[in-house]
Parts: sequence; C-alpha cells; structure tokens
Amino acid sequence: MTAYTDLVNRLVRELAKLPGIGPRSAERIVFHILKVDSEYARNLASLLVQVKQHSFFCKECHHLSESEICHICRDPGRDQKIICVVEESKDIIALEKTGAHKGLYHVLLGALSPLDGIGPRELRIQDLLRRIREKNIREVILATNSNTEGETTALYLLKILKPLGVSVTRIAKGIPVGSNLEFADQATLGQALTARVPFA
Ligand SMILES: [Zn+2]
Repeated sequence: MTAYTDLVNRLVRELAKLPGIGPRSAERIVFHILKVDSEYARNLASLLVQVKQHSFFCKECHHLSESEICHICRDPGRDQKIICVVEESKDIIALEKTGAHKGLYHVLLGALSPLDGIGPRELRIQDLLRRIREKNIREVILATNSNTEGETTALYLLKILKPLGVSVTRIAKGIPVGSNLEFADQATLGQALTARVPFA
C-alpha cells in the first residue's frame, strides 16, 4: 500500500474506516473507481454529499428520514399508543413490509454490547422513556434482534419499563435464534409480531 500515491493512500485509509470494509477491500474499491469513467466517480461523490445533507434521524423515533419528523410519526392513521422498539432503521423497513404493525416505532441506534463499549447511554433509551411518559403509551413491543446483544437489550428495557406501568411484549420466537430481523422472511416476521407475548 505504501507504493501508491498519497491521494490513493488517503482514500484507501478513509474507505477502510467504513463498517465491514478492511484495507484489502478498500484497495479493491479504489482501483475499481480508478478504472471506471469519471462520471461514475463524480456521481458517487455527489450522492454521498447529498445523502448526508438531506437525510436526518427523525426527532421523535430516530428512523432515517428526509424530514425532521419521519412519515411514520406524521401518519395520523397509526396507533399512537403502541411503540415497537428496534435496533436500526433497517429493521423498520423489514417490519413495515409485513404490514403487521400499525403503531409507531423507536430506533435505539444499536444494541447493548458491553464488550464494544456500548452501554445504555450510547442508545436512545432516555428518549424512549420520555415518549412513553409524554404520550401515555399503552404497549411497548420489543423487536430487538434475537442474538445475545438483542436479548440483553430486551431484558434491560424490560427492567426499566416495568415500573412505568406500560405493557411490555416481545416478538414471538420463530425468528431463528442468533439472527437479525432484516434477514427473516416477511411471513415469519409478520407472524412473530402478531403472536407477540407478554415479556416478563
Ligand atoms: Zn419518526
């Protein structure tokens, strides 16, 4: 890597910081970009800037949105008393495809993972508590992943939500243990949501 030009080295280093991309993949991407026409590179660069300028995390639920409040939070047709808690925006997309949830969402922006230094304060948990109190939420559905981090997060949330007197449910089993929601097929995910059970 040391033999490349300074600019190439810098781009490789920056790309290698992206999740899931190590130095070798970063190098492959850079050489791919060098080979394709300039138009593609220009569009890609401009798109990166535009996405960053025009995408927000919804002020209410932290779902990725093109406006300050996302289309789900703005939708008066949704049940305002039920909140489904997920780890990431992509989980909302998976759950919305099932059509099984008519309430609101709350994105934690991650899951508890002490080994990676992610504790309750790194997640959007305080915001969730505020929403539950202010909006008199009736039910909280915990739809975190069924891997260790997701289960740990669900148990933690149960502990702090119980004193609030809100009903807490967990999406039913059927999502393979250890897997992410986004990879579950629609039917399984929809059923897991409909057949949710009280979490205690
Ligand atoms: Zn929202």
